[in-house]
Amino acid sequence: MIYPITIYGNPVLRKVGEDIDRNYKNLAQVIENMFETMYQSEGVGLAAPQVNLSLKLFIIDASPMGEDDETLKDFKKIFINAKIIEESGKEWDFNEGCLSVPNIREDVKRKAKIRIEYYDENFNFHDEYFEGIASRVIQHEYDHTQGILFPDRLSPLKKRLLKGKLNSISKNNVKVNYRILLNK
Ligand code: ZN
Repeated sequence: MIYPITIYGNPVLRKVGEDIDRNYKNLAQVIENMFETMYQSEGVGLAAPQVNLSLKLFIIDASPMGEDDETLKDFKKIFINAKIIEESGKEWDFNEGCLSVPNIREDVKRKAKIRIEYYDENFNFHDEYFEGIASRVIQHEYDHTQGILFPDRLSPLKKRLLKGKLNSISKNNVKVNYRILLNK
């Protein structure tokens, strides 16, 4: 099932997601639907608040970026109750976009490496390090589970310049080729 995507202005995107326990109903189905939704909208990552579920859950399949970066070839993962416990290394710019912030792309500065704890879909615990694009995609999706959107990470000047566009999105003034959940 393909979920409609929540867009800028929807309060669910500003909430900290709830923890998921292993008895959460239909989790496997939710994850499958999220993958279907992500592939249909040609994203490489998708977080639960983007499908109107306030949960600490995000999925990534960066394999389409594997052509440019060998390390991403098999990078397909599910992150449950993730917690970034350390960010380190040099800050670098990467051009980010977001299905919930349509038609806006901006260079965002983030640190190069992360250490993250999370559970996978079988509730196995992981404590891992990532760097490069993998780290970047995780940082972006992780932010969603914390109620943070990439424009929040821009300079005050860039934010001011984007204000009009963001306001338009929050008023449902968007054209995209995937299904969205209109703001009330
Ligand atoms: Zn996003």
